[in-house]
Amino acid sequence: MMNYQPTLAFARRLDRNDPLRSCRRRFYFPKHKGKNVLYFCGNSLGLQPKGVEQALRNELKHWREHAVEGHFRGDMPWMHYHKFLQKQSAAIVGALPEEVVVMNTLTTNLHLLMVSFYRPTPERFKIIMEAGAFPSDQYAMETQVRWHGFDPAHAIVEVAPRPGEQTLRTDDIAATIKQHGAQTAVIMFGGVNYYTGQFFDLRAITAAGHAAGAYVGFDLAHAAGNVPLQLHDWGADFACWCSYKYLNSGPGGPSGIFVHEKHGNDHSLPRFGGWWGHDEQSRFLMKKGFIPMSGAAGWQLSNSQVLSCAAHKVSLDQFDAVGMPALRAKSLLLTGYLEFLIKELNKKGARFNIITPEDPAQRGAQLSILTDISGKALFDYLTGNGVVADWREPNVIRVAPAPVYNSFEDVWRLAELLGKWMKVQLTH
Ligand SMILES: *Cc1c(COP(=O)(O)O)cnc(C)c1O
Repeated sequence: MMNYQPTLAFARRLDRNDPLRSCRRRFYFPKHKGKNVLYFCGNSLGLQPKGVEQALRNELKHWREHAVEGHFRGDMPWMHYHKFLQKQSAAIVGALPEEVVVMNTLTTNLHLLMVSFYRPTPERFKIIMEAGAFPSDQYAMETQVRWHGFDPAHAIVEVAPRPGEQTLRTDDIAATIKQHGAQTAVIMFGGVNYYTGQFFDLRAITAAGHAAGAYVGFDLAHAAGNVPLQLHDWGADFACWCSYKYLNSGPGGPSGIFVHEKHGNDHSLPRFGGWWGHDEQSRFLMKKGFIPMSGAAGWQLSNSQVLSCAAHKVSLDQFDAVGMPALRAKSLLLTGYLEFLIKELNKKGARFNIITPEDPAQRGAQLSILTDISGKALFDYLTGNGVVADWREPNVIRVAPAPVYNSFEDVWRLAELLGKWMKVQLTH
């Protein structure tokens, strides 16, 4: 473990020694009173990489000059656009390139994947998920269950923390899967919970789900670009994620999906088809009869959203240049430093209650601080001092130092503000 020190000089030393320090310059930071904000909201919307504007201009120029011929011309003809994102996306989630494709948006994709992997029968109809999953996922699971004519109250099993605890135990997840195993069709878990920041043991969940004879899928919205993932080796059946959180691809950015190789050519899996998922060789023959492409590409419906994919590509290039191992190494150090500084304040009388697991293997960049009744006032104080973090009802402040653009000094300055707040509170 690093021997952290709570001084600005120490934070700056970490920045000087940071192999990723030059990445920060490639992003735009919003301003507060003329200075860069302290941005800790990359778990919600990542900052804009400076290359995005040019990438968009390039596509607009391509459109202006070539119109429909743009599909076939240039370095990245639109007709094949999804292919230019496959390899780099696969590296982020630990997949083979053909197991991944970028398309649509996240909740849409979650539904499309459930079409293939949630095929309930009167015997096997349950979905096991984490309690307190992101609302969109809850609504998706609820409406999937209803669509098949089952009752969500009966069909959806949520694994909750034990009384007095905030996060899940892997043993409890495995025990729940075992208990409901024979009736379970799908395990659908988040990778990193949006509220607590807990990074679940996806390998163990996959193994437990498969032992019960269920499919296992993950929503990696808060995990992609944040934590190390090995979807292929873990054997997960399917996954999806968005690109606008840690992956910095802009509001409403496109989603990625993963379908494991073992299912990539399984034409018996039902799916909703569209021309872009149809066999490329015969796509333009416009004939009857849907023949899916092999791999995740066979789940596509429409031709690529080129403008948003162009923005995504800029970010993927950055992740590719840095690599997930280096990002994760910095992330562990950076979030560890924030945790250290908060604990130092607690030693001096503050009561910042971090509900994110202490074990670095069970978390990503984000720390969630459970507050008391003064929490909203604290949040407003931070906002008034140029911090962009976020407030989640009922009483959590989430801060996520993103290793690609946050510095150790950013983290130190956040802790300095928390310390000032604490002093005011303690003297009242
Ligand atoms: C951010 C997030 C979403 C948002 O879905 P969109 O379809 O992209 O709006 C869904 N699920 C989870 C777990 C998320 O974190």
